[in-house]
Amino acid sequence: MSAQHREIVVIGSGPAGLTSAVYTARANLEPLVIEGVGAGGQLMLTTEVENFPGFPEGILGPALMANMREQALRFGTEFVTDDVSRVDFSSRPFGVWVGDTEYRADAIIISTGASARMLGLPSEQRLLGYGVSTCATCDGFFYRGRPLAIVGGGDSALEEALFLTKFATKVTIIHRRDEFRASKIMRDRALANDKIDVIWNAEVTEVVGDQAVESLVLRDTVTGETSTLEVAGLFVAIGHTPNTALFEGVLDLDENGYIVTAADSTATSIPGVFAAGDVQDHVYRQAITAAGSGCMAAIETERWLAEHA
Ligand code: NAP
Repeated sequence: MSAQHREIVVIGSGPAGLTSAVYTARANLEPLVIEGVGAGGQLMLTTEVENFPGFPEGILGPALMANMREQALRFGTEFVTDDVSRVDFSSRPFGVWVGDTEYRADAIIISTGASARMLGLPSEQRLLGYGVSTCATCDGFFYRGRPLAIVGGGDSALEEALFLTKFATKVTIIHRRDEFRASKIMRDRALANDKIDVIWNAEVTEVVGDQAVESLVLRDTVTGETSTLEVAGLFVAIGHTPNTALFEGVLDLDENGYIVTAADSTATSIPGVFAAGDVQDHVYRQAITAAGSGCMAAIETERWLAEHA
């Protein structure tokens, strides 16, 4: 089968990818967005989004993504709802494969985002969606009047613990060290909250439950002693991993696997390949900053194509 040629292929369809699609489509570049099987990115796993400007009453994450997709479609973006299986950026036009289908693109925008990190326990995997969650804003509501635990010691864990106090009788933060990584303001807020307890120097070694989470087995990282904590849910908030497996050995990645982009730019180590959103941002990780960098990538791509036509 012969390859389909495109001016721009966008890989990924979170706020970064869809914003770059809106901009490049309005610039008549007819982008093809390979949106992935998990189209829409991390906002598809959230409920209320209250900090995206333009929605004073807030908006549901999936609704926000549906709006962005519709806006991109309106200007002629084409979508492929599948995952990219392979790329070849060694020569132009760049190669992108979805199974056996080959696309050739003059420029590429990568916006494959990041995924929540997990503890790696079989019991955690088995009970994911049955009491184990990576998204407090999505699932907190289900635990009204029940005790909860959250693992992690960063800003996300503390922010989510505070959020969960709206529903839970008690929120126990389980942290593997005796000091939080989170910012001082979040530490102070969490420690001042009566509904929050902290178990320091502890790790979860098993999530116990058949159809739902009933308790956790904890191990003290200093003494090695084990204990049990009864909870109805476990929220895992131990950071994120960038979705860059496709680009290992292809593009420059940092020590944590994020795509390296030039200062004040979305340009990657290969001219004509740009990266936007959480796949290159481990600092801000917001929908609005991802959308902003998607806009940057679109403008940079447009200029680059004009210079390299
Ligand atoms: P993070 O800062 O990387 O923190 C991850 C936490 O999880 C750390 O406390 C880490 O422990 C712990 N952890 C990692 N792997 C673990 C494992 N296998 N088992 C148990 N614990 C584990 O990630 P984050 O909290 O998601 O934050 C990411 C970035 O977003 C940060 O820059 C953060 O400041 C920012 N952020 C900001 C806000 C805000 O300003 N409102 C909100 C959320 C996130 P150690 O501390 O021992 O390494």
